[in-house]
Amino acid sequence: MLSTMQDVPLLISRILAHGSSIHGTSLVTTWTGEGEPARRSYAEIGARSAQLAHALREDLGVEGDDRVATLMWNNAEHVEAYFAIPSMGAVLHTLNLRLPAEQLIWIANHAADRVVIVNGSLLPLLAPLLPHLTSVEHVVVSGPGDRSLLGGASARVHEYEELLAGKPTAYEWPELDERSAAAMCYTSGTTGDPKGVVYSHRSIYLHSMQVNLTQSMGLTDQDTSLVVVPQFHVNAWGLPHATFMTGVSMLMPDRFLQPVPLAQMIEQERPTHAAAVPTIWQGLLAELGAHSRDVSSLGQVTIGGAACPPSLMEAFDKLGMRVCHAWGMTETSPLGTVARPPAHAVGTEEEFTYRTTQGRFPAGVEARLTGPGGERLPWDGESAGELEVRGPWIAGAYYGGEGAEVLRPADKFSEDGWLKTGDVGTISADGYLTLTDRAKDVIKSGGEWISSVELENALMAHPDVSEAAVVAVPDDRWGERPLATVVLKEGSTADFTALRSFLAEEGGIAKWQLPERWTVIESVPKTSVGKFDKKVLRRQYAEGELDITRL
Ligand code: ADP
Repeated sequence: MLSTMQDVPLLISRILAHGSSIHGTSLVTTWTGEGEPARRSYAEIGARSAQLAHALREDLGVEGDDRVATLMWNNAEHVEAYFAIPSMGAVLHTLNLRLPAEQLIWIANHAADRVVIVNGSLLPLLAPLLPHLTSVEHVVVSGPGDRSLLGGASARVHEYEELLAGKPTAYEWPELDERSAAAMCYTSGTTGDPKGVVYSHRSIYLHSMQVNLTQSMGLTDQDTSLVVVPQFHVNAWGLPHATFMTGVSMLMPDRFLQPVPLAQMIEQERPTHAAAVPTIWQGLLAELGAHSRDVSSLGQVTIGGAACPPSLMEAFDKLGMRVCHAWGMTETSPLGTVARPPAHAVGTEEEFTYRTTQGRFPAGVEARLTGPGGERLPWDGESAGELEVRGPWIAGAYYGGEGAEVLRPADKFSEDGWLKTGDVGTISADGYLTLTDRAKDVIKSGGEWISSVELENALMAHPDVSEAAVVAVPDDRWGERPLATVVLKEGSTADFTALRSFLAEEGGIAKWQLPERWTVIESVPKTSVGKFDKKVLRRQYAEGELDITRL
């Protein structure tokens, strides 16, 4: 029997229409560094998205599933691009502005981007790449910046505001197939080459609803979200789409991502929610320690993208900013798990432990653990294996390139179509995921696994340690052993012996897991999205660039 329900495609244009009418007075506020921030209502964003779509179609000839790339910070214009491009049927491709030049060129050519919308402040980055971007015909520049850098470019250069001026403020958005491509994002390549993930209208729509659930971020139109996570990092974790569904206002930091302006923004604009990777919050914490600021508005902070050290969570809790830990990947849109404690644990000692896990799977994400021999492992909180997931907002393949089939590499997708996450961990009987490592970062010592993340968390709980990264290094006897690289706080007197004892006594680390190789570094190298870049540390060790002490 067929259902009797209407079949209305789940389209981004519907999210836009809803946000810009029902929540027309909600705001996107963009930080400008000096003077008043720029404020634009959702109604204005709706009108300007229509104008942008007209410009792309009528002036630039964007048609069908042409790729329109953005090389932009988080700001109102980037939100307009987020809605205009997919709603008209084209494909939004967010370029990660922190990637090395060769990777950016490779990615833009692989996606066959026809247009790049760029912030003026990023022209020094784009200009030298442009001659190598073989498919780009148009560059649209938004905001202040030196246009003369584009002199000699073969692509046509346009001004964002000039293109929009005078265009109609409504657009007849096409009734697309909800399964068609809406946006694409390449993985940031922390552990390998970038791979293109293509989100559909449907996957983004369903993911946005999930982000909005109380069990996830649970925000309402009374909230303002400080969206620090870049719009080029997995669609800013789905926030721009989710906020347009619920009318949550957005505070966008543009290029002002350093701890001082972030602290100023929070004090002045009083957001109630914020989202970013742990390294951003470590920086803010240090700033708040040095200069007191009123951050009391910030009730909830979503931390994900890398394991949130419990010490960071505790420090934030003390400042009244409650951390909610979440796990995800480019391939999972990204929301995969959220660490909201179960009802029975609230108010008990267990609550914090639950909050430090990666969290529970929402309806819509199915999970299983696979052991080294391909066997299914039980959800007992002890059996560790590779996490595999499936669901309507989980990738089932990678983009193969113009005219090519999609790619389903066997190390990323199981034969029955599940995504192999490359993350290793356990799942408790009540469905909480605890990641112990990335498969590629696990330290395999004498046939046993040591979790680099567990060692890092224990080290970062030491009052003298500001950051710590642990990587596997080759060892004649054990195969691999952990190398601890630590960043000490200014004026710290801790020595390695003391840190090692701390790990054993306070951190509860088993004796055989304690690192014997130690080094102090100035800062942990970071990837393009602010995660610890362990590839660099392993290389530095291999090339003898680190000054190692053996205990
Ligand atoms: P990249 O793979 O280049 O880092 P992604 O942003 O897609 O780009 O990263 C996804 C990976 O980040 C996950 O597979 C996982 O290893 C890690 N990750 C994300 N969130 C968490 C978290 N809360 N705890 C631990 N690891 C996390």
